[in-house]
This record gives sequence, structure tokens and C-alpha cells, in this order.
Amino acid sequence: MAKHPGEEITFLMAKPDAVWRGLTGEIIRRIEQVGLKIVGLKMFKPTFEQIDSHYPKDKTWVNRLGEKTLATYAKFGYDARAELGTDQAEKIGPMVRKWLIDFMISGPVVVMAIKGVHAVSMTRKLAGSTMPADSELGTIRGDFSVDSAAAANRDKRAVYNLVHASETEEEAKHEIEHWFGKGEKLSDYDRSDEMVMYPSRK
Ligand code: ADP
Repeated sequence: MAKHPGEEITFLMAKPDAVWRGLTGEIIRRIEQVGLKIVGLKMFKPTFEQIDSHYPKDKTWVNRLGEKTLATYAKFGYDARAELGTDQAEKIGPMVRKWLIDFMISGPVVVMAIKGVHAVSMTRKLAGSTMPADSELGTIRGDFSVDSAAAANRDKRAVYNLVHASETEEEAKHEIEHWFGKGEKLSDYDRSDEMVMYPSRK
């Protein structure tokens, strides 16, 4: 039988803007409040190499960053060639990836492994959409940030959107291994409310 949805584990990183703004506790509170369980947690200032190998390097992913940036420039009438020296997605993608790395190594981050029913999609839902200006109120990004691609790209920096959350279980597994170490055991404990959330499992 496939594993119980409550066994699902995901990964979330509070980015430097969240730590600088004292929002780590609020982020953890929201995760725990919804019924998800923190099973791994640590804070540190990441190195360039750690972040460089966290974000994908494949052409599709990097080009997508370039295309998204070009779309923003077109939407707001900005001149990509004048501002960035090129209007080619495959050249802008690596630029945006570099902005992202520079941001992520500029301060401490908090990494978390999170377990619970549909942990991956629930955590993405709690985070809100990538661009804070488009995020629903009630989400972490929607309630606590106001940034947009238009503002960030104008300033030649990454979008400050407080958190990163894995998109799939495979990505989460890979990211947990990357940040917590291969073979590192996550915590295992019962929360008092699990008897109510999973009555037949006790
Ligand atoms: P998510 O973090 O929601 O999974 P992506 O994987 O698309 O989103 O992007 C990774 C990160 O790169 C985003 O969280 C954001 O900080 C930054 N980013 C994405 N698109 C842009 C952009 N057009 N300009 C600047 N930064 C961006």
C-alpha cells in the first residue's frame, strides 16, 4: 500500500529577508498551527557553493528565469537591452540566478523539514505565490511582503519573498539531503493533537 499522506515530508527555507525581519517565529507558528510538524530545523549563513548547488543549473530552469524577467520588462515597458545589456533570455537567466545567489548568501537562513498530510502542497499554499505582490492575503508572502519582479528587476536583484518551499516530494528529498546531510536522521516525535488528526493510526 502507498504510504499514508501524513508521512509526506517537505523542505522550507526562511530566506535572509525573513530572518532580518524577525519573521522566523511567525513562519514556524503558521506551519505548526495548520497541523504540520517541524522534524528538522537549523539556522546558518550559507556559502556560495551551498546555494549554487541548491538552485537548478539546467538550461530550462535558468532560461525560465530569463523569460520571466523579459516578460516583466515587456509588461512595464522597461528596456531590457538598455538596462541589462541584452534582451536574450538565455543571457538574462544566469544574471537573475546570480542576483538570487547574492541575496541568499547575504545573511542567515533557517532551513526546516516539515512532515504531515500533503506537506508539500500545504506548505506551498502557506507560502503563497512566488511574487509577493500577487500572493493572496493570508499567505506568508501575501501578509508580510510587497515585492514584485518589476521592483526587483529595476533594482537588479532577486525578488525578496521570505521563503523557499519545495515543489515536489522528490525535490524535497533532494533539498533535505542537501541541507541536512545524507543519512542525517530527522526528528521523530508525537504531537499531542495527532490523536485527534489521525484517530485510527494510534
Ligand atoms: P519559487 O521560489 O516560488 O519556487 P522560482 O523557482 O520560480 O519560484 O524562483 C526562485 C526564486 O527566484 C524566487 O523565489 C525569487 O526569489 C527569485 N525570482 C524568480 N523570478 C524572478 C525574477 N523575474 N526576478 C528576480 N528574482 C526572481
